[in-house]
Order: sequence, then structure tokens, then C-alpha cells
Amino acid sequence: MRPQKPIKNKGKKKKGSQKGSPPFESLYDELPGFMYIAEISEMGFHPLNSVGGFASLTGYRASDFFKPDFFDTRIVETNDTQKVRSFREAASAGQNSRELAYHLKRKNGKRVLVKERMVVLSARGEARLIGGVISLASEQKAAAASTSEEKRSLRLQEIQRMNDHLLEINRLKDEFLTNTSHELRTPLNSIIGFLTLLAEGYYESENEMRLFTRNALESSRHLLNVINDILDISKIEAGTMDTHIEKVYVDELMEEIRSLFEMQAEQKGLTLECTTKKKPIFAAADIQKLKQVLINLVGNAIKFTPKGTVKLTARVNDDRILFVVRDTGIGIPVDKLQKVFQKFIQVDGSATRRYGGTGLGLAISKHLVEMMGGKIEVKSKGVGTGTTVRLAIPCWKKE
Ligand code: ADP
Repeated sequence: MRPQKPIKNKGKKKKGSQKGSPPFESLYDELPGFMYIAEISEMGFHPLNSVGGFASLTGYRASDFFKPDFFDTRIVETNDTQKVRSFREAASAGQNSRELAYHLKRKNGKRVLVKERMVVLSARGEARLIGGVISLASEQKAAAASTSEEKRSLRLQEIQRMNDHLLEINRLKDEFLTNTSHELRTPLNSIIGFLTLLAEGYYESENEMRLFTRNALESSRHLLNVINDILDISKIEAGTMDTHIEKVYVDELMEEIRSLFEMQAEQKGLTLECTTKKKPIFAAADIQKLKQVLINLVGNAIKFTPKGTVKLTARVNDDRILFVVRDTGIGIPVDKLQKVFQKFIQVDGSATRRYGGTGLGLAISKHLVEMMGGKIEVKSKGVGTGTTVRLAIPCWKKE
């Protein structure tokens, strides 16, 4: 098909803005886009007519648009040339009503993102492309502005969250330092006190001497536990804690726990029950670490139960051994249940709290249990309703 000359508008003045021009022409010229009628031949894309702001969009003269293939090869950005060519080919092959976004290079070298929409009309065997090209620069700016605004506000929210988090950590650290120094100082003072009495001979009988010695010993053990907790959490955080998984005879372990806490429970007037099923059961665990976890859970149950029962049970559940520690104690507010596994968290962390502790036991237990491939969860219906801790540890598979 032979390229055609631009179809001249009858009576159209050369410049839309000139005196006497139709009132809309100057407006058309300033539009951030233009419409065209064109044909596609073996020689390329050939505009036949155009209306609108080709010149203001591209910086070229309006007549340049009609130079053979000028628009597609000179104005469309080189990287997008192929894309635009395929677009025109698909349109001329009859795929109607199409849309494409690509870049133009203005005469001054600046890139502009445009969107072109095109339909194909056929009349008397001749196909004509009717299209419109419009600048997306303002949309792009608005999108960039809104995304940068969104990004800024997200960043601000993130900074605020981090700030709140850091403040909370700082508050917990302060609380931890106060509580821990109290936890360290109390047994240490007690040890010093009883040893002074013994050293100075301030006892009236051998029985009293034994009592003072036992008290000093008990406080030393307590002190050692607190120090161990602090060392354990540091080891866990440094990633240097490891486990040695072996076959653990659960009944034997339960008996050990029972005998460890028997006296303490009795002194508080609590009933302590430790039961397993009749058939012997075996866990695949690190015995020392499993014992440490159970000691922590039963110790907590006794500590937070003023009267009633503390019950430790174990049974096989699928391929797990399910340990349950249930008490009839003070319970845990429902909104604090998730938090008790975080380190330093104590439901009552105030200076006037009634129960000792560092808030590390459950955090350490959770880490240890997970290192052994198990799971731990705490349940309570709220204050005064008792607490249940469930612990699932893999069963020992037969050799
Ligand atoms: P600690 O006992 O040293 O304070 P833990 O990490 O073992 O630290 O427990 C964290 C907190 O969870 C406790 O301070 C207590 O508030 C709550 N808690 C744990 N076990 C029980 C329980 N059996 N009954 C009531 N509260 C409990």
C-alpha cells in the first residue's frame, strides 16, 4: 500500500493558537496526547490524519508525525520499538481494540511514558488504524508520589513499632535486673547470715547447727539455680546449647521428680500426684534437659498454688509422650498466656510481687523442648482457675 499524504482539514488554520482559529484547536494542541488515523503497509506505520497535542507531547513539529515510519522508528524509544511493532502487526492482523504502554523520547531527549489504544476499522477492503496516544507522566508522578508517601508512612509505622519494642525490652531488662539482683541477693544474704551464725558459734544445739547448715545449703542451691538459668539463656541465645537425645524411661524420671518435690509440696499442704500408664513408656529426649523442664514446670505449679493439688501425668499420644502439669493455683490472665514464654516475663513483675523468680524458666523450657523436637503450651481460664502446661516430646522408636 502506498503511503498517503496527511489529509488536510478543510479551512484549518496552520496554528491553532492563531487569531481566528476555531476555539478548540489551541486546546487540542496542548493536550498531553493525540488521536490519529493510520494505515499499516509493508513499509511500516503511516499516519493519515491526526488531531491533538502531538507537538506538545513529543517536542517535534506536528508535520513530523506524517513522515513515513518517523513516529515508530524515531520517537518511540529504541528499547520499546519491537514491542510497538508487534503491537501494530497484531492489530493489522485483525486483533481489535488493543492497548500498550511504552516510552517516547522527546526531541529534548527526555523520556515520556505513554499509553496507546488502537482499534482497526475495515472499509471497502482497506484497514485503518484509529488510535490515541496519551501521556502517563502525571499518573506516573502521582503513583510515585503516593508510593513514596505510602513508603514513608510504612517506614514511620515500622520505626514506631521498633521504638515501642525497644522501650518494652528496656523496661523488661530493668525489671529483670531488679528482680534478678533480688533473686541473687536474697539467697546470698541468707547463706552469709547462716554461715556467720555457724562461724561465730551462735547456735544452742547440734540440731540448731544442722538447721542453719541446711538453710545455708538450700539457699546455695537456689542461688545456683538462678545462676544456671541466667547462664542457660545466654547459651541458648549464643546458639551454643546442644542436646544429646537418648532413650529416657519416663516412669523413672517421673518418680525422680515426685521425690524431688514431695517435701516442698507437703510443707505447703499441697497434694502432689505423679502418674503414668501401667505400661512402661520411653521418650526420645535429652534426659537432663527434659528433667530441667519438668522441674521448672512442677516447681512453678507448686510455687503458684497456695492450696489444692499439683498433678503430673504422662501418656503416649500418637508418636509423642504427652506430659501434663495441672495445678489448682492462681492461674494466668488469658491475655498474658502467650507472653509467659518470653524471657523476663512475669505476670506480676512488680517490686511488690509475692512470688520469686526471674521470668526465665518458661523461656528456657520452650527452647529446650523445641531443641528436642517437642512442643509446649500453657492453658489457663484466667486468674484463680489454675494452670495446665502440656508438653509433647517424641516417643523413643524401637531399635
Ligand atoms: P519465673 O517462675 O522465674 O517467674 P517462668 O518463666 O517460669 O519464670 O514463668 C513466667 C511467669 O509465668 C511467672 O512469673 C508466672 O507469672 C507465670 N506462671 C508460670 N507458671 C505458672 C503457674 N503454674 N501458675 C501461674 N502462673 C504461672
